[in-house]
Amino acid sequence: MMYGVHFTDDADGEAFRSMARCALSHAISPQELTFVVGRSPSLFAPLPAPEPGYAMTAPRAYLELLQDVICHRAEDRFPLLYDVLWRLKHGEPELLSRASDPAVSKLSSYAGAVHRDIHKMHAFVRFHRRQSGSGDLYFAWFEPQHFVLRRAAPFFVDRFASMNWIIATPDGTASWDGRELAFGPALPKPEKLEDEVLGEVWQTYYRTIFNPARVNPQMMTREMPKKYWRNLPEAALIPGLVAKAQRRIETMDDMPDVPPRFAEKIALQRKPEMAPADALAALRAEAARCRACPLHRPATQTVFGEGPVDARLVFVGEQPGDSEDIAGRPFVGPAGQVFDRALSDAGIDRAGVYVTNAVKHFKFEPRGKRRIHSKPDISEVRICGSWLTQELDLLNPDLVVALGATAAHALSGRNMAVTKTRGAELKWPDGRRGLVTVHPSFLLRLPDKGAQETEYAKFVHDLKLAAFLIGSKRESVHAKAA
Ligand code: SF4
Repeated sequence: MMYGVHFTDDADGEAFRSMARCALSHAISPQELTFVVGRSPSLFAPLPAPEPGYAMTAPRAYLELLQDVICHRAEDRFPLLYDVLWRLKHGEPELLSRASDPAVSKLSSYAGAVHRDIHKMHAFVRFHRRQSGSGDLYFAWFEPQHFVLRRAAPFFVDRFASMNWIIATPDGTASWDGRELAFGPALPKPEKLEDEVLGEVWQTYYRTIFNPARVNPQMMTREMPKKYWRNLPEAALIPGLVAKAQRRIETMDDMPDVPPRFAEKIALQRKPEMAPADALAALRAEAARCRACPLHRPATQTVFGEGPVDARLVFVGEQPGDSEDIAGRPFVGPAGQVFDRALSDAGIDRAGVYVTNAVKHFKFEPRGKRRIHSKPDISEVRICGSWLTQELDLLNPDLVVALGATAAHALSGRNMAVTKTRGAELKWPDGRRGLVTVHPSFLLRLPDKGAQETEYAKFVHDLKLAAFLIGSKRESVHAKAA
């Protein structure tokens, strides 16, 4: 028998769990279900009420995946979620760790897209002041790609707790009156969204943080996609600032003055999370709360990247190890010590570079009292890649060096043989210049001293090449695509 399941476009996790409870309690398989999304009625029989007393359980990792994926706009999220849930309960309890499974892989990519959309919403919502009977009301219009309003809204409560605000989207509204966060139906898009004072504040702020020496139009549109520009007051400045950038690099004498009154308004109206250092700190805080994959559970803490926000050189490793997990800092354990020595031998100051990992939580297998490193699988690398992408977008470095195959996969999106690719500059798919070398832990695993010394010398040679490349002019280096 076929059953019809109807969901609204923006059905939430609770609606899905309720449906799944009915279906599972009657042992209805995915093949017996037809999912209809939107308003059209289903021709098939509705699901029966759940068996009395049936309690639906699911692994925590699945519930966390559900929380993300349910916000995605793809209609196949419902059958995919039920398919995976069914298989978890019918003989495949380890399914979520099989990244090669097509359904798991697709759901992981949906979760990553939702995370990126939430980040974009945090970054690109702009409030416009309106007078209302009870004082100032701040209004923002935003068009997210997915149903992320409910997930993104608490961030604005933290940031703008003292303001009365409404964020309207084509899917619904979130409003804050200083006490309570409420969600309501969608409002029509306003014809005009202008606030002379706030618009000027944003433009002044953007002019101030705009660094002509670091203009990379491709990266700029990647971090601030053009579809968001129409709602960003500062976007009007971009073409002019980019056009003037080359001349400003040469002269560096026409940096705009910031009128003090606007600087004061900036401080009052908006915490400066858009300044790169603050944006990076905010991202670090957000990552500390990440529960997007199961790796956070046994680990001690998120180990985020560290280094100056204007670092020109970024190193990406695989994942934190035992020492890093405890310290909360990357590359501080035995491999980190080898890395520090090699950096020093290559003439690179570690304090001047940014060091991070493809995966931010320590994956391990307990063995007695020890925790043995376990390689992250591709789905974990892909999900966590959202943090790496955001780090790189904020840093916008001149060169990104992959330390080992996992980092190279995270940056290129495909398998890369380190031995075949090391030693030559390449371009990552996002257009950034790159280099691949071994992970320093590889040197620690070599059995004899002779091999260790040989490989250490090759590693230092690769680091010297990285230092050379960031000292060379971009145009003069021929790079092949990764
Ligand atoms: S490993 Fe990455 S994606 Fe997974 S929980 Fe940690 S920070 Fe989030």
